Amino acid sequence: MMMDRQKMLQQLQDVRQWDIIVIGGGATGLGAAVDAASRGYKTLLVEQEDFAKGTSSRSTKLVHGGVRYLAQGNIKMVREALRERGLLLKNAPHVCHNLSFIIPSFHWWQKWYYSIGLSMYDLLAGKLSLGKTKMLSKKTTQQLVPAISSQNLSGGVLYHDGQFDDTRLAVNLAQTAEEQGAAILNYCKVIALIKTEKRISGVEVQDLLSGKKYSISGKAVINATGVFTDKVIEMDDPNHQPIVSPSQGVHIVVNEKFFPGKQALMIPKTDDGRVLFAVPWHDKVILGTTDTPINDIALEPKALQEEIDFIIHHSNRYLSSQIEYKDINTVYAGLRPLIKVKGKKSTSILPRDHTTIISESGLVTITGGKWTTYRTMGKHAVDNAAFACKLPKHGCVTATLPIHGFQDNTNIEDVLNIYGSDAKKINQLIIEQPSLQEKIHPALPYSKATVVWAVQNEMAMTVEDVLARRTRSLFLDAKAAVEAATLVASIMAPLLNQTEEWQQQQVKQFTALSHNYLLH
Ligand SMILES: Cc1cc2nc3c(=O)[nH]c(=O)nc-3n(C[C@H](O)[C@H](O)[C@H](O)COP(=O)(O)OP(=O)(O)OC[C@H]3O[C@@H](n4cnc5c(N)ncnc54)[C@H](O)[C@@H]3O)c2cc1C
Repeated sequence: MMMDRQKMLQQLQDVRQWDIIVIGGGATGLGAAVDAASRGYKTLLVEQEDFAKGTSSRSTKLVHGGVRYLAQGNIKMVREALRERGLLLKNAPHVCHNLSFIIPSFHWWQKWYYSIGLSMYDLLAGKLSLGKTKMLSKKTTQQLVPAISSQNLSGGVLYHDGQFDDTRLAVNLAQTAEEQGAAILNYCKVIALIKTEKRISGVEVQDLLSGKKYSISGKAVINATGVFTDKVIEMDDPNHQPIVSPSQGVHIVVNEKFFPGKQALMIPKTDDGRVLFAVPWHDKVILGTTDTPINDIALEPKALQEEIDFIIHHSNRYLSSQIEYKDINTVYAGLRPLIKVKGKKSTSILPRDHTTIISESGLVTITGGKWTTYRTMGKHAVDNAAFACKLPKHGCVTATLPIHGFQDNTNIEDVLNIYGSDAKKINQLIIEQPSLQEKIHPALPYSKATVVWAVQNEMAMTVEDVLARRTRSLFLDAKAAVEAATLVASIMAPLLNQTEEWQQQQVKQFTALSHNYLLH
């Protein structure tokens, strides 16, 4: 089914009262919208920019229990995330897959230490385990991770976790919610909450593309706005004390020649106590991340020089070929919405679980957590909304609900695999118009057909939507993405009834944005 923005906007006028309005179209909000709609609630989701424009496009791309949280003793959280990992791999096998990770060891005891911990990780996954942990000799470690420096290496441990494409999953969740009956809108910002007799009874929304404002009535309102959580709570209660403590994480993306092979590398403890990952992703490698407390909450956070240097320095300690600034294709930064804990200053020790709050006026806020647990977060948000706003009871059905694009036979080598069951429809576009097979740029894997598909079926409204989130061009190779912008704008314009001037403006805006992702 295609997501038609115009039709959804029409529903803003036609629907008299929604059961549940979700503010925020990141992992959490989309999870809540899928949950609410699939229970049968009349559901609306509004996102101020594009789906996953915020933190949800900027993750390490892991569907994981969190090995490091196990080391911190948070067994309950790890068990829940491992269960969610298993369910996601079952319900969306086209966007998530099993990946082997290798932890190198440099002392004989490390191999035993990690392998005992990781065997427990497997055990906690129970039936949803992705494979057994194995101890590796030095030779096998080098064979599996050819890029690893042999200096002091004594062997390694191999374990399994999941990997995904965060924005592709976000788009598929939006599609799933729509198929379950929800209205899902990007570029619609909540500018105020409406109250009737001190209870929240709806939201004021502005369509940022047309400027038009709407007053929308709803029985329950869920605030799933990530690092913007406090701003929305303030609309409810101007005296509210902030609950979110944003922490920035940066990644760099390099060509696979720096890290060939199919396995990921995990370094359990960097100098600041974090883990460092080198993860093959599409045809590139992601290295990161950092954990920097930040005061400025922005939709486009900027990587700090010291964060980039930290990643290069730590990666180069373990890799045989050394990464330099000029080798970086893209750098991207994201803000974790961590829950504040009194007296704790370092964000790396703040809890990673999620929190749900119901305000006196009935606003349900859900924040914290991680992408992996988006489904349970959605469930908790809807359970609380149904309770607080006295909606008729309906049980959650998402544990076994296939996500849009679901198909059994996946081949991750195929560039269209990520589109799942939609891949054959994209191929059909090419059969009808063979020129759509041409790539948008020689260094990017995407065809012109994926641009047409994104506009016609995935609610892509801007060049950035296509290059950053429908395809991952900006995250794989920022320079190539900028070079492709003019072509992409020219494909989009007629489909969106836009002018030559729109095209120029789009290219200008995208080029300006790309400076955040480029180092040279
Ligand atoms: C560096 C980094 C790496 C990570 N890696 C992983 C990982 O590998 N695996 C994992 O499981 N998790 C990971 N996470 C965590 C995960 O990415 C986040 O927990 C998750 O994306 C948060 O989603 P969210 O929906 O709560 O927030 P967001 O994605 O930020 O979504 C909130 C949305 O609300 C919208 N919004 C705000 N105000 C309004 C308004 N007034 N009206 C309408 N919309 C509004 C915003 O535009 C935004 O899109 C990582 C996080 C970071 C920062």
